[in-house]
Amino acid sequence: MKKLYGGMEGGGTKFYCVVGGGKGSILEEVRFPTTTPEETLSKAVDFFQKFDLSAIGLAPFGPLDLNPVSASYGSITATPKPGWSGVNVLAAFKDEFNFPMAFDLDVNAAAFGEYSLNPENKGLESFVYFTIGTGIGAGVIINGKVIHGLTHPEAGHMRLPHDIKRDPFPGTCPFHGDCFEGMASGPALARRWRKPAETLPAYHPAWEQEAWYIAHALVNVILNLSPQRIVLGGGVMEHEPLFPSVRTKVQKLLNGYIASPVFSGSLEGFIVPPALGRRSGALGALALAKAKL
Ligand code: ZN
Repeated sequence: MKKLYGGMEGGGTKFYCVVGGGKGSILEEVRFPTTTPEETLSKAVDFFQKFDLSAIGLAPFGPLDLNPVSASYGSITATPKPGWSGVNVLAAFKDEFNFPMAFDLDVNAAAFGEYSLNPENKGLESFVYFTIGTGIGAGVIINGKVIHGLTHPEAGHMRLPHDIKRDPFPGTCPFHGDCFEGMASGPALARRWRKPAETLPAYHPAWEQEAWYIAHALVNVILNLSPQRIVLGGGVMEHEPLFPSVRTKVQKLLNGYIASPVFSGSLEGFIVPPALGRRSGALGALALAKAKL
């Protein structure tokens, strides 16, 4: 009998749970809003209980305790989201199920999904996935493995140049103010321009400025990790003209410094949208479950 796997992407605004065979197809799925931990996690458990699963991948929003020898392994650590700090997502599932479980950050799962389920990315040695939406985060894959380290990379909070004369906006990050997320996430755009990002017209100066911040962040990542491909996902990146604008700015900032044929062109195959669309996280969690067996 064909094995079935579960994948859960637990975002700050909604949870997305899928069941499938592990090759990218989905047998059944459910989405529901993120409310209290008790209500949200029991909805997820109820959904997965309908299936005979071989393994599950859990990928909630972070920051997370990913250290398997830590007493709070499996929990969300200091999140500004009310009620969710210290909630042990993994333990809630271990109380209910007995099969193997993979546990990782939502953006790491999305990175793994894009990397392992899109044949064009298979075999790349260095690969980065950014989500630019409600928050900003990055998942890094090196030699086929998701990078963790001390906790996990937090590239969404990197410091970027901020010319306060040109852009007096102080930023929205509760920890750093004007870090990347504080300046360029969906909520930052909404607060700066006083309307939701998705309602800003295509000619609005917000987009040029947004591309400027994203390009600076990508240049830092390119110089630090030498990725062979960067995927940009998340709600803000659904504004497609950002892609050519970011590519041009990255080329300009690097100014011919990177000696690779990739940088002789328009970067169309280097800075790309997610092949799995909005399903990268959930399908990635499912792929992490499969890899666990
Ligand atoms: Zn920050």
